[in-house]
Amino acid sequence: MRNCKKLLDEPGRVAALRRYSVLDTPAEQPFDKLTELVRNVLGVSFAAVSLIDEDRQWFKSVAGLSAGETPRDVSFCTHTIKTREPMIIPDATLDARFSKNPLVTGHPKIRSYLGVPLETPDGYNLGALCAIDTAPRTFNASQIEIMKSFAALVLNELELRQIAMSDALTGALTRRGWVAMAEKEMARRLRDGTEAAIIMFDVDHFKAVNDTYGHPAGDGVLRTLSQRCVAELRQGDTLGRIGGEEFAVLLPGAGAREAMIFAERLRRRFSEAPVDVGGRLLWITASFGVESIGEAGPSVESWLAAADRRLYEAKAAGRNRCFGG
Ligand code: GH3
Ligand code: MG
Ligand code: MG
Repeated sequence: MRNCKKLLDEPGRVAALRRYSVLDTPAEQPFDKLTELVRNVLGVSFAAVSLIDEDRQWFKSVAGLSAGETPRDVSFCTHTIKTREPMIIPDATLDARFSKNPLVTGHPKIRSYLGVPLETPDGYNLGALCAIDTAPRTFNASQIEIMKSFAALVLNELELRQIAMSDALTGALTRRGWVAMAEKEMARRLRDGTEAAIIMFDVDHFKAVNDTYGHPAGDGVLRTLSQRCVAELRQGDTLGRIGGEEFAVLLPGAGAREAMIFAERLRRRFSEAPVDVGGRLLWITASFGVESIGEAGPSVESWLAAADRRLYEAKAAGRNRCFGG
């Protein structure tokens, strides 16, 4: 089966979902219009865009019912995302997986279900677009095709939002996108008490690159350094372009020491090979500031500011080095 490994890669799937920065966002019309369409076109009681987070299903949109999220273990869609194909349940009371499900035995009395996985271009199922009825029923081939098309539209909408948050030059998240992502991570970390750290870096003497070789050469340097950074990231780490030649990396789960080791690895990666801009080889370095969540203030902005102070210390101490931890 196509991309079978991705279907079993749950940490990768959750990381992919988080990259879309859609969980816990307010309702938006394009999604609501799609679920309303599903409801009307298929003639079902409810329709939903369900995103499967680590331990819950969160609804970006629900038509016909008011619901925000449910635990993952009662979710029908969590079964849908195990395969690439639509999942059809003509009668949940006759299906051993669902007959005792509280959503079947109690409110909202789910009886039949059609779910189509929301598959990303890189092969992860983020959740499902689903049609649900309170009576047993079947779904014919053309209805399934319609659902597949609607599911593709849901994915398009998610992709558009992600593109809007990406920096065109480097592909890193924009400052706004990165901060939004870091805010969610921060809330999560503070809730469950696990660690996280950020690394900020700023290219050394970058103005001189622009002044000597021109702005396009400077752009090439930023692109290359971003690529080198991304190549080092683990799943779940996120690079953002915070300012002109300043970047930040969010490292969920990393303690201060681990983050310092990672910053040092990036520093070496940047400095050990020249950047090729139009055939000219430029030796470029950057300075790094590291701050763990334990030392962070109440907001992502104060966390960033703390990392920035470390970065400033690294600059003052002579550049091409890492401070903090
Ligand atoms: P330092 O080592 O102290 O960081 O020195 P610096 O020269 O890197 O610092 P400074 O803040 O003076 O220079 C940053 C420069 O980055 C100035 C600005 O023109 C340039 N810059 C900002 N955004 C871009 C961009 O998108 N492309 C290019 N080519 N240059 C940019
Ligand atoms: Mg700067
Ligand atoms: Mg600089």
